[in-house]
Amino acid sequence: MKVFKFGGASVSSVEKIKNIGEIIKNYPHEQLVIIISAIGKTTNALEKVAEAFFEERKEDALQLFEQIKNSHLNTLKYLCTLNWQKAENQLKDFFTEIEWLLYDKPVRNYDYYYDQIVCCGELLSTAIISNYLNEINIRNQWIDVRDLLQTDNNFRDAAINWTVSSNKITNATHQLFIHSNLIITQGFIGATADNESTTLGREGSDYSAAIFANILSAENLIIWKDVEGVMNADPKQFPSAQYISELSYKEVIEMAYYGAQVIHPKTIKPLQNAKIPLHVKCFLNPGSPGTIISNKLVHNLPPIIVVKDNQVLLQLNSKDFSFMEEESVGKLYQLFYNG
Ligand code: ASP
Ligand code: MG
Repeated sequence: MKVFKFGGASVSSVEKIKNIGEIIKNYPHEQLVIIISAIGKTTNALEKVAEAFFEERKEDALQLFEQIKNSHLNTLKYLCTLNWQKAENQLKDFFTEIEWLLYDKPVRNYDYYYDQIVCCGELLSTAIISNYLNEINIRNQWIDVRDLLQTDNNFRDAAINWTVSSNKITNATHQLFIHSNLIITQGFIGATADNESTTLGREGSDYSAAIFANILSAENLIIWKDVEGVMNADPKQFPSAQYISELSYKEVIEMAYYGAQVIHPKTIKPLQNAKIPLHVKCFLNPGSPGTIISNKLVHNLPPIIVVKDNQVLLQLNSKDFSFMEEESVGKLYQLFYNG
């Protein structure tokens, strides 16, 4: 069993969604759990809806949401004929859920509403893609990840309840794989024990995929991206940047932690803990080898460059000549931590 993750850029057009079908056809006998992000920049657009709603600009919120509805309905039209009505009904159920909320007045905090609104992007994209794949006879089961991935109620940066989520994911996938080899679900979102939607932090779909891979002891996780693999620097800033075919978890976690736009920083831990290799591959060129990330230490790597803008250098010293030792440094870190 493998876990695949397709990000927003890999599903940002009708052509790219069709390409997902082509990629899946290369794995005819595998059980696959496919985690998908919202289409293109939908999450950014939904953030604008949440802001307008919270600032009580109801008309703006509804109008912005209308644009999101239309673009998804439009995409669906190009992808489904036989399943079109069923798929449209599914999308409309999600639309209604959000619109009910938009007609209300905010009485809770912003982060709560953000998650209730923004979670819709992944529900829409997966519904469209699942119906499209069924339409072209790639049989699959769609599931609402909010029924599987339980989190706390720290909205916008929710933490996973691993025990509950493990049970739910294991049982559900077991049942769904009876019907077909393919399960389609959403990245980035989850739900509390009270069924309130939550999100795991921006770009969190990589992390969702790693959680599934860990819980299901997947053979590997493949993250499909619009680049050929991981590079040693951002090619926009360093034209001589080169692809790296193999990396260790340790190297990647450092790159992600220091801000390289490789994968979401939380992704590596669940994979490393279960020794599941991560494969970064290009959805535009599935035959190319990509980058494999695993426990194996890799030597002779090129220098890895991460540029961080807007840094501040703090220089601290004591006024009375007392030493800067553990206690005072500890206090400073506590102050930074408290923000
Ligand atoms: N759709 C979400 C975002 O844009 C999650 C993701 O793409 O990983 O942040
Ligand atoms: Mg994304």
